[in-house]
Amino acid sequence: MRYKVNEIFRSLQGEGTRAGRPCVFVRLTGCPLRCTYCDTAYAFHEGRSQDTEQILAAVADLLAPLRRGPEAPFVELTGGEPLAHPGASELLQALRGLGVPVALETAGSHDLAPVPPEVIKIVDRKTPGSGEGERWLESNLQHLVPGQDELKFVLTGPEDYVWAREWCGERGIWDRLTVLFAPAWGTLDPAWLGERILADGLPVRLQLQLHKILWGPLRSGV
Ligand code: SF4
Repeated sequence: MRYKVNEIFRSLQGEGTRAGRPCVFVRLTGCPLRCTYCDTAYAFHEGRSQDTEQILAAVADLLAPLRRGPEAPFVELTGGEPLAHPGASELLQALRGLGVPVALETAGSHDLAPVPPEVIKIVDRKTPGSGEGERWLESNLQHLVPGQDELKFVLTGPEDYVWAREWCGERGIWDRLTVLFAPAWGTLDPAWLGERILADGLPVRLQLQLHKILWGPLRSGV
């Protein structure tokens, strides 16, 4: 099967509970969403066609010099919106064959049912402030594995914070899933968000985008 690939690179994971860990990213081209804060618009159209074997070879090359251990590198399929690609689940399965953990970053707007259950799903529940909140597929909640998968909220302001808090509370999310609250870069003060999380006693993890802190907000390939 062939895929339009925007970039394959090794970096430090910038987000989620694995932030700071070495990771090989496979970024597929294309996304049907247009979030207000999107930082990967360069992946909407740019890319070149590669087949599964070429992708696996490139990922294996980047993994090769890395050592194993509890913080060993892993592979993440991202975009764009990787699940917009027909055959994304087959690619995830093929990446699993490399013998390292495989993660998927997705907006939750496409059905997670075909995704191999062992793949770590980091699902970005779009808020009203993203402009794409209506794209959410509620049935995707049943495919999230407690202790493995993560539900992320990128918050553009206090209104998004209140909305996300209520949305999680109404669904009993706190009791079963790892939840990440992230301030939209340059839009919401991280300190304000941290203080609100503490004041409200929410069982969430504050997520900052490590790669942007290290290398700035505009650099691709990191
Ligand atoms: S889903 Fe991701 S890639 Fe697509 S527009 Fe939103 S932020 Fe950008």
